[in-house]
Parts: sequence; structure tokens; C-alpha cells
Amino acid sequence: MKIATKYIHAGMEPDPSTGAIMTPIYQTSTYVQEAPGVNKGFEYARSQNPTRKALEEAYAQIENGKHGLAFSSGVAATDAVIKLLSPGDEVIAANDMYGGTYRLFSKVFEKFGITFTYIDTTDIQAVQAAVSSKTKLIWIETPTNPLMNITDIESVAKIAKANNALLCVDNTFASPYLQNPLDLGADIVMHSATKYLGGHSDVIQGCLIVNDDSLREQLYFIQKSSGAVPGPMDCFLVLRGIKTLHLRMQRHCENGQKIAHWLRNHPAVAKVYWCGFEDHPNYAIAKKQMRDFGGMLSFELKNDTLEAAKKVLSATHLFSLAESLGGVESLINHPASMTHASIPREKRIANGLTDTLIRLSVGIEDADDLIADLEQALA
Ligand SMILES: *Cc1c(COP(=O)(O)O)cnc(C)c1O
Repeated sequence: MKIATKYIHAGMEPDPSTGAIMTPIYQTSTYVQEAPGVNKGFEYARSQNPTRKALEEAYAQIENGKHGLAFSSGVAATDAVIKLLSPGDEVIAANDMYGGTYRLFSKVFEKFGITFTYIDTTDIQAVQAAVSSKTKLIWIETPTNPLMNITDIESVAKIAKANNALLCVDNTFASPYLQNPLDLGADIVMHSATKYLGGHSDVIQGCLIVNDDSLREQLYFIQKSSGAVPGPMDCFLVLRGIKTLHLRMQRHCENGQKIAHWLRNHPAVAKVYWCGFEDHPNYAIAKKQMRDFGGMLSFELKNDTLEAAKKVLSATHLFSLAESLGGVESLINHPASMTHASIPREKRIANGLTDTLIRLSVGIEDADDLIADLEQALA
């Protein structure tokens, strides 16, 4: 089935009691049982909810996976993956990833005796060299946030498989429209559904998608035992969001491309980070594993003072100054003080994330209006 058809029909069955075409919001905490132990497959809403079930089915389908699991946020989904591990286990993680993932690993899980090694995962030799007999998980994000580096998923999956480690890919930035890591050999796909999947900046949610039945059972056990499940209203919103993912992504990509090229030719701009440029260091891999290049990009000004960056950040009207990404409206963000403030400054700078970097989440407005807004802000 082609993407457009799949996104509209994924997980959707007419409601058995009424025929409602949209999955109802089953706002209930429990289910009446016919006799002790005799029920319709629903006992308590932390463990099962029909709205969540429809969404989890949709998650599986849009990532070409067998099982989907929904969580109350992206970080809750990440948290569940790390809870597969035990003290003494080692994780190899990307040195350029979402600040909240780094915070969860370093501030919450390190004290339970799990070791995290942060490396440049775009360098396959470095990944190979970092693996040890204790490595149980490799965690990558591609494209990365906010520097748009690309890691070769297929090559890392081969290293993980050869060493009996799991590979989890945070696919938030690409969305399933651009890239499907399970098809490239990954074991787990993670999304912050808050971003492109929800798509309207009105819900916090996360998800995991896997093929392996036993991995699904372990993650389901963690989901219900730790209890970070989303409510049915939030599940309904993401189900609705997925129906237009292909249309939105198409426009995000078109606008992203126009703005990336426009910024690159602007005399006040020193550098643009966008993985669709043919001279991007990982362009060949992006081209191989992604269907298009998305609407996320970052740039630096020629005037590399914090004052100049702050002026631009405060001068846009259509681009709202806010954290997050992937909604229909355009956002502008200052990673150093906003999304990535939880990463120590020296670490940030060593990885190339400067104090003056500006990140854009290009929305689906008219590209000419967005360019005019940036033009007046840069002036
Ligand atoms: C936002 C984000 C997360 C965290 O998701 P929440 O839904 O905010 O908990 C993880 N990874 C990436 C790449 C993100 O952008």
C-alpha cells in the first residue's frame, strides 16, 4: 500500500458498537467484566485502552513494523527502552542528539550503573571501535538536532547485530514519511509524536515501534509497570494528525528546501545546516536512506555575536520563538539557551553547537511569506 493510503487508513476500523468512522475517545479508567477473569480483552486503562490500541496499530503500520507502543511523551518512550537494560550494561549514544535524551541518560540512568559512551555516530569506524562485549544498545538520532548530521542506519544496524546489541533510532526529525529505520535493520524506532506525527503543536506523546515479538512483550511489560501511558484524547489527536502526515511533510520539505537555499545565498548568513545540500558531508547517505530532506534547518550569521543572533530571534513575526518543532506553524529557536541548555557548554561547543546557532522548524505556510519574514529579521 502506498504511503498516502496507509496514513489515512492506518489503525482505523469503524467502531464496532456504532459504526463511527473515527475511533471514539474511550475516556474510561476501567471496564466492566462479565465474571471474574471474563472480559473483552480490556481490564484497566493503564494496560489497555481501545483508542490507544487503534493508535498503536497505526504506529506499527506507518513505520512498517509489527508492534507499536504509545507513551505519555517522547522521553517516556526513551525511558522505557533504557529500562530494558541492567546495571553494568553499556550504551553507545550519539554525541549530537536531543538535549532531553542526554539529560535522561546522564542525570537519571547513569546512577543506576548503566554506562553511556557518546561518540560521533556518523563515523562508522568510531561506532565499531566503541562497541564492547557489554554494549547492549546503540542509540542514534538521524538527522541530528540541531546540526543535521546523518548517520548511516544500515551500517550501524550491521554492527549492532554482529555484537548482539539492539539499535534504537530516534526518528522524530525525519518522521516515517522520510525514513523507516526498521526497513534498514534497526530493532526499535522511537518518535516524539509531539512533533510531526501529532503535527499541530497540541499534544505531548511518544512511541516505540518494533518487529520482534519478545521485544514487544518486554516493552509492553515496562509500559504497563512504569505507567507512562497517554490518555485517550491525546491518542485521538495523534491518530488524526497521522492522516495528513504525507501532505504536511510534502510542504515542510518544499518550504525547507526553498528557505535553505535562500538563506545560503543571503549576505548576512555564514553557514546553513540542511541535509539536502549536495555538498553536505553526509549527503550520499541522506539520499540513500531518506525520501526527501525535511523542513528542519539551522544557520549561523556572519556576525557571530550573541547580540546579533538574539536580534534575529526576536525580530521574526511568522516564525514564533519557541521550543519544539514539526507543527504546521513555523518556529525559530536558540538551541544553546533553549532546547539544548541541558548539555554542558564545553560539550556543546566541542560538538559544533555554537552559542549563536539559530534553528528553524519550517512550517507549511506560504514559502514567500516565510522568506519575507526572515528577510526583514535579517535586515
Ligand atoms: C522533542 C524530542 C524528544 C522528546 O520528546 P517529548 O515528546 O518532548 O518528550 C526526543 N527526541 C527528539 C529528536 C525530539 O525532538
